Amino acid sequence: MDKYEILKKHFGYDTFRHAQETLIDSILEGKDTLGIMPTGAGKSLCYQIPALLLEGITLVISPLISLMKDQVGSLNQAGIHAAFLNSSLTPGQYMKALGYARAGRYPIIYVAPERLVTPEFLDFALHTKIAMVAVDEAHCVSQWGQDFRPSYLKIVEFIGQLPKRPILSAFTATATTEVRDDIIDILQLHDPTVMTTGFDRSNLYFGVMAVKDRYGAVRNYLETHREESGIIYCLTRKHVEEVCERLIKDGFSVTRYHAGLSDEERRKNQDDFIYDRIPLIVATNAFGMGIDKSNVRFVLHYGMPKNPESYYQEAGRAGRDGGPAQCILYYSGQDVVTNQLFIEHNQDNQELDEVTRAIVMERDRQRLKKMTFYCFTNECLRDYILQYFGEYGSNYCGNCSNCLTQFEEVDVTDIATALLGCIRTSHQRYGVTVILDTVRGARTAKIRDYGMDKNPYYGTLEKVPIYRLRQVLNHLQLQEYLFVTGDTYAVVKLTEKSADVPDQEERIMMKLAREVERTAKTQEAGKKKRKSYGLPADTDFSEKEETLFERLRRLRMELARAAQVPPYIVFSDKTLTHMCIVKPVTKSEMLTVSGVGEYKFEKYGEPFLQCITAFKKETGR
Ligand code: ADP
Ligand code: MG
Ligand code: ZN
Repeated sequence: MDKYEILKKHFGYDTFRHAQETLIDSILEGKDTLGIMPTGAGKSLCYQIPALLLEGITLVISPLISLMKDQVGSLNQAGIHAAFLNSSLTPGQYMKALGYARAGRYPIIYVAPERLVTPEFLDFALHTKIAMVAVDEAHCVSQWGQDFRPSYLKIVEFIGQLPKRPILSAFTATATTEVRDDIIDILQLHDPTVMTTGFDRSNLYFGVMAVKDRYGAVRNYLETHREESGIIYCLTRKHVEEVCERLIKDGFSVTRYHAGLSDEERRKNQDDFIYDRIPLIVATNAFGMGIDKSNVRFVLHYGMPKNPESYYQEAGRAGRDGGPAQCILYYSGQDVVTNQLFIEHNQDNQELDEVTRAIVMERDRQRLKKMTFYCFTNECLRDYILQYFGEYGSNYCGNCSNCLTQFEEVDVTDIATALLGCIRTSHQRYGVTVILDTVRGARTAKIRDYGMDKNPYYGTLEKVPIYRLRQVLNHLQLQEYLFVTGDTYAVVKLTEKSADVPDQEERIMMKLAREVERTAKTQEAGKKKRKSYGLPADTDFSEKEETLFERLRRLRMELARAAQVPPYIVFSDKTLTHMCIVKPVTKSEMLTVSGVGEYKFEKYGEPFLQCITAFKKETGR
């Protein structure tokens, strides 16, 4: 078999995506290879297909158990023998899997990095032909990455011990130059082929909303997207609990996920979501790595993540099938503070030495700043992200909230003057909370103790909503009228620029997105409601085709249940959509549908053919 036959037969696709072929050819020529492609671009195939063509075993290094399980599950469904070796196996299962591996049963084996240099694994690896080591999520080797894992450094140690150096390939979705250079240096790639593909995911709509009532905004969104599958990310477990509870009260079918739940509940909730039993999941960032659910139609962020890498990765879980999907971030000023706390108390960094920890922390702070700017930029949001990853966009994408909504120039001079005045007259001694409480005229013991109720600006901004005050304060920080010290007691200080603010002629203008609190009804009015769950909104389907889609979806659900796999592993929404258009009634017609390969056809093809044939008879075509 050649690479095209494998692509068709095992994966059911006719053509390689841009870059996949280059990367695969490079590996097959025996060259070290680095692929930098965004989430959903199809990195797995780039090492899986060569693994089937190379003589010897391919080891895939992957950071997470769930990631390995998902991938191995998909491979087995595609008729490829693969296994994983990690701490989720009992010692008995582990030895058994190693035994099969020794017997040459698996062309592809997923291994956790910390396993590599253990005596049992080395004993196996030193007596087997290892054709390639593929490092997935390779940014984990870099301190510049958002997800540095010291155990990834064991990869180099491991390769050094092998009698013959295998081909090395590495893949990541993080495209900053620092990370790329680190991967090449640390993994010691030999003159690698490096391929970076466009990070743009044009099917994703990006939006930022700074709203007063965050929960209300999310609920409104969900009301207009009933029956679609989506993820709602929260910053903290507490938020997950709150949001989930309120949504249940408001009548939504929703589940939750965070690290505080028992393993069992997490597994169950995750499965309910993946298997389409429950369309919505409220989760912390603990959820999602390795989740390849392709029909996620939206990812809402109830709170700003700690850096653009995390945001793009989490948001990128929407629309993996290539259909239109939405990514909306609901920002609140408090998010910055929460993230600052996360950075300071990051447990993951405990194993690092002091110097490294300080470096990592500083980089984390820089990234948080970039993330905050994303929430305030007036430029095209897509462009902002692409620039962050070192690409140049077109300034205007027409598919983000900044490109689409009209911005309002708001004169915030009065608010700014009062805030700066309050900071100045209290001798730059206090933090954000005291300043805001003062101008709002709060009657707290703290304010009285500090004598801030005597401050000339006390209560002067009583009527301005707190979120607007935070927005202006943030704006002043971004415009360098003030800064917040990084000490244990964060204090707001003025800059040279703010020295003459109350007297200057110049007005302080701020671009704020016009707040349209659209109700569920008005949004729905312009849009024909689609019954079909997860059907891409722009699919031009007749009513008949919608009925067919619905039937195929139900059939998929039954088959998935019987096989105990998630529905998208049977066929993706995109494949079902394509089926509705092609309406195949023979095997060869069915094989032209994108995502249907020989193996999938063997397993699931017949019932789908029958379903379509019956439908065609009924509708007289
Ligand atoms: P990544 O690891 O880059 O985030 P994956 O390897 O998980 O992405 O692939 C994302 C999705 O794209 C999967 O559903 C996969 O089956 C699909 N895919 C990969 N290559 C192709 C292709 N050539 N044609 C169509 N779909 C593809
Ligand atoms: Mg991947
Ligand atoms: Zn845009």
